[in-house]
Amino acid sequence: MYDIGIVGGGTAGLTAAIYGQRAGKKTIVFEGTAYGGQISSSARVENYPGIAVISGFEFSMNLSEQAKSLEAELVSAQVQEIRKEGENFLVTTSRGDYICKTVILATGMTHRHLGLEKEKHLTGSGVSYCATCDGAFFRGRDVAVIGGGNTALQDALFLSAYCSKVYLVHRRDEFRGEDRLVEQLRKKENVEFIMSAVVKDISGKFMVDGVILNNKKTGEDFTIPVSGIFVAVGQIPGNENFADIVELDENGFIRAGEDCVTSCPGIFAAGDCRTKEIRQLVTAAADGAAAALAACKYIRM
Ligand code: NAP
Repeated sequence: MYDIGIVGGGTAGLTAAIYGQRAGKKTIVFEGTAYGGQISSSARVENYPGIAVISGFEFSMNLSEQAKSLEAELVSAQVQEIRKEGENFLVTTSRGDYICKTVILATGMTHRHLGLEKEKHLTGSGVSYCATCDGAFFRGRDVAVIGGGNTALQDALFLSAYCSKVYLVHRRDEFRGEDRLVEQLRKKENVEFIMSAVVKDISGKFMVDGVILNNKKTGEDFTIPVSGIFVAVGQIPGNENFADIVELDENGFIRAGEDCVTSCPGIFAAGDCRTKEIRQLVTAAADGAAAALAACKYIRM
């Protein structure tokens, strides 16, 4: 029997584990892929208070080490279902069932796809969603980064150090990400912006050999030969497994306020997976603390 079962080992989930353990609660964290969440694939984090600069990977490692050193239990398992059982919750995972007095959902978000048939087939064969994980495989090659947010800008910067040419393809003529990053990219000789263009298709049978774009202003299609396509078109929540126990909004986010309280007493939602305005590292950490303290209060009631 655990006091707090945490679904998701990203910044929100691991922060909740740190706060839970420090409050003397028996805490378990379930993570289906890799600990650290989204931030692990950020090349540089420069906006976390008190840390001027750190790689996302190092940040994630520090966080999971901190949770482990406080004796939080970290389990590699996918949570399939959560059910109320008497006063407690039965958490069904790919590694068996667990009973928890409270649950914190900190499921974060997953990569949004372009939705092309070829994208599915060529994932891992030239299509990637993580520049810091896969960038080195494209050393000396030409690649395209799709997207106009901070992730796409950072990915393009990161890849410009490895690749001979980086095309940054954005669907509008203005970037969503920070001007500071855009300015850094403008100074790179091997980076070319392709604005107001959408991806129509991907070419290549077994490996990517190009990306077919459509110029939204002229309506013309054109192909750029690349061996890698890094898709950075945002994130979407993945809360389908919990839709029958907590209320979701129309976009799939768990309805919860700053107190992280959901529609189901005893279940809390922390970080990017909940309805909120600002999805940043620091707000994910703040939610982790708020959710853990709310769970402790619920147990005391
Ligand atoms: P994002 O800010 O939502 O940007 C997604 C981009 O993809 C937008 O430019 C969007 O275009 C474009 N897009 C969406 N769907 C598309 C489609 N189907 N085809 C083509 N383009 C499409 O996502 P993100 O860049 O992953 O960033 C998510 C959050 O994390 C943001 O708040 C960001 O600031 C933050 N972040 C922070 C750091 C850091 O340094 N701490 C690093 C990375 C990300 P439109 O602009 O036209 O909508």
